[in-house]
Amino acid sequence: MQNINFEERINLSNYTTIKVGGFAEYFSKPNNADEFINLIKWSHLNNQNCQILGAGSNVLINNIFLKGLTICTKKMRSIQIESHSGIVVAEAGVMLPTMSNMLAKIGLKGGEWAVGIPGTVGGSIYMNAGSKKLSLANNLLSVQVIDTKTLKIFEIQKKDLNFQYRFSPFQQNNHFIISAKLHFEPKGNIKQLLETTRKNLKEKINTQPYDLPSFGSVFRNPTNTYAGKLIEELGLKGFKIGGAEISTMHGNFIINNSSANSKDIFDLITVIQQKVLQKKGIFLHPEVRMIGFDYP
Ligand SMILES: Cc1cc2nc3c(=O)[nH]c(=O)nc-3n(C[C@H](O)[C@H](O)[C@H](O)COP(=O)(O)OP(=O)(O)OC[C@H]3O[C@@H](n4cnc5c(N)ncnc54)[C@H](O)[C@@H]3O)c2cc1C
Repeated sequence: MQNINFEERINLSNYTTIKVGGFAEYFSKPNNADEFINLIKWSHLNNQNCQILGAGSNVLINNIFLKGLTICTKKMRSIQIESHSGIVVAEAGVMLPTMSNMLAKIGLKGGEWAVGIPGTVGGSIYMNAGSKKLSLANNLLSVQVIDTKTLKIFEIQKKDLNFQYRFSPFQQNNHFIISAKLHFEPKGNIKQLLETTRKNLKEKINTQPYDLPSFGSVFRNPTNTYAGKLIEELGLKGFKIGGAEISTMHGNFIINNSSANSKDIFDLITVIQQKVLQKKGIFLHPEVRMIGFDYP
């Protein structure tokens, strides 16, 4: 095994879009798949917990000392695009907006929706992130993973992965995503693709507090309704706990108005759940992943 590079006692609030989080005992940002694999092997052999972060755009990390190794994949940015076939192989850390813009520029169709999702390919497959009815699962051919128990590296075909609304099997298994093979439609009209991509980003910016610290939609939409609509109907927009506030722009967004800590945000999530359950009879399930909390 090559040398392992990591830092110690790193403040994870710098690695989440909501800008809160505890401290990682060990922290590393591998530059490529080989370094990523070596880090996972190291943590296994040394009996250390291993937590993966992509762009940290869908996580709430408690303000605790996170034992073990936290790996941030954001530097694993290698991407190979075959414009004639539309086949794309992307490492886990490739950002969706970067990929979306690259695809449009070379006339590959099908990634225009992803421009407004500030997450990585790995995090987006794990979350089955999407917009309207589209998600990365639609374009996925296979995923290369490492099993954290056996340390085996293998490829899983899309047909063997049961994706559901904001759910992937990776939320329940021991596999970390190394890279993904995707397919987009070749020979698209570049001008049109660039225009759609631009419009999609504009729509996001116009309807969500896109430039404020948040983790996107807090809750999954319940069947036949929208979490944001339920929250808005209860007059909760603008409601605050400490530095955490329900966005006045979008009811399903919590923003950190610069002084929030993890507890403010967790408490606000709980209050919303209680109020929506009492008044509407609906339990809102968080979409955001809780790390270091006693939450299922
Ligand atoms: C302004 C804003 C807008 C957003 N809009 C949308 C939207 O329209 N649609 C939507 O679906 N989401 C949206 N999100 C949420 C978020 O961007 C997505 O869920 C995104 O896919 C998360 O990717 P990430 O790299 O940030 O993952 P992270 O938040 O870093 O991690 C999420 C989970 O994935 C796991 N994970 C990450 N990488 C790997 C890997 N390589 N292998 C195994 N597990 C991994 C982590 O351990 C964690 O449990 C938005 C967020 C923000 C801040």
